[in-house]
Amino acid sequence: TLAACGGGGAGSEPEASGTAGGGGGAAEEGGTIGVAMPTQTTERWIADGNFVKEGLEEAGFEVDLQYAGDDIPTQSQQIDNMITNGVSVLIIAAIDGTALSSQLAAAAEAGIPVISYDRLIRDSENVDFYVTFDNYKVGVQQATSLLTGLGILDESGAETGETGPFNIEMFAGSLDDNNAHFFWQGAQDTLAPYLESGVLVVPSGQMDIEQAATQGWLQETAQKRMEDLLTAGYVGTDKKVQAVLAPNDGLARGVITALQNNGYAGTIADGFPIVTGQDAEIASVKLIRDGVQYSTVFKDTRKLAAQAITAAEAFLAGEEPEANDTETYDNGVKVVPSYLLESDTVRADEVQSVLIDSGYWTEEQVEAGV
Ligand code: BGC
Repeated sequence: TLAACGGGGAGSEPEASGTAGGGGGAAEEGGTIGVAMPTQTTERWIADGNFVKEGLEEAGFEVDLQYAGDDIPTQSQQIDNMITNGVSVLIIAAIDGTALSSQLAAAAEAGIPVISYDRLIRDSENVDFYVTFDNYKVGVQQATSLLTGLGILDESGAETGETGPFNIEMFAGSLDDNNAHFFWQGAQDTLAPYLESGVLVVPSGQMDIEQAATQGWLQETAQKRMEDLLTAGYVGTDKKVQAVLAPNDGLARGVITALQNNGYAGTIADGFPIVTGQDAEIASVKLIRDGVQYSTVFKDTRKLAAQAITAAEAFLAGEEPEANDTETYDNGVKVVPSYLLESDTVRADEVQSVLIDSGYWTEEQVEAGV
């Protein structure tokens, strides 16, 4: 089961999705803040929801937290309800970044500031602020760890002179998630010189984001595609896949399962392929500790939640939240002022210093993998 805390026990249980609750009995000070999260199937969103809710409650707000089960109409409905109930601010992690224009128009009409959370909401001028990580850099970190895992780069990031050739396959996230494009671009720019020189080879030839995409970020979909790639291009030959670019931990575990189902066994030390990830999900952190998954990218959801709360408070004080990037995130209508946080690559050696010492996961959780 998913750890409902994601933060060393700091979290409380998320509210069930689907209720229209929230409004009405708003706290005197700040009223109710609507928080729309995409899904509880990717563990991080549970942590995000918990941290945002707790932080807002500590600051004296009421919170209407909703999860939409990755269903776009459900999320639209939840946001409609929040607006009807008179929330004072909306914090939204969109499922489909292009599907909320009418909701955001209604929010603007009602004078409700909208904070886009982690994922950029596109095609609307009514997005007032964006809090996220440096998503392009996440892709760079994933590709860099793939290169390090293969021994093409050393620990300092310098080229070792290793010429391969190495067989790799590449996965992308869901194309309706704006982030998926940034992760992919950061990774592709980093891998390009090695693909051009032939140090890296993609035997399937599937090198476009459309071919690599995983609709809905579904783990089973990634597993299926990896199995298909193995069947079509590897099984029955002496060709082996040596690394897989996976854009998050759920997809990484789907890929790992597919590999294990096709005769790849043991740990990286035994020759198991290098598989990247993202989110520092507990099941993947355990696999990293065990030497099966090579890396993840840790994005501290505690910091993102705190940043969203700071932005909400600024709007309610009649101020503009402080941005540290006003150039990158063009949503198709305008460049949305953003606050970007830093992410960290975590491999086996960094589990202790980055994840356990910071209190994100406990030693016991890492040990158990849940
Ligand atoms: C988030 C990732 C997450 C993915 C799937 C992305 O928008 O930035 O952290 O793994 O969605 O939920």
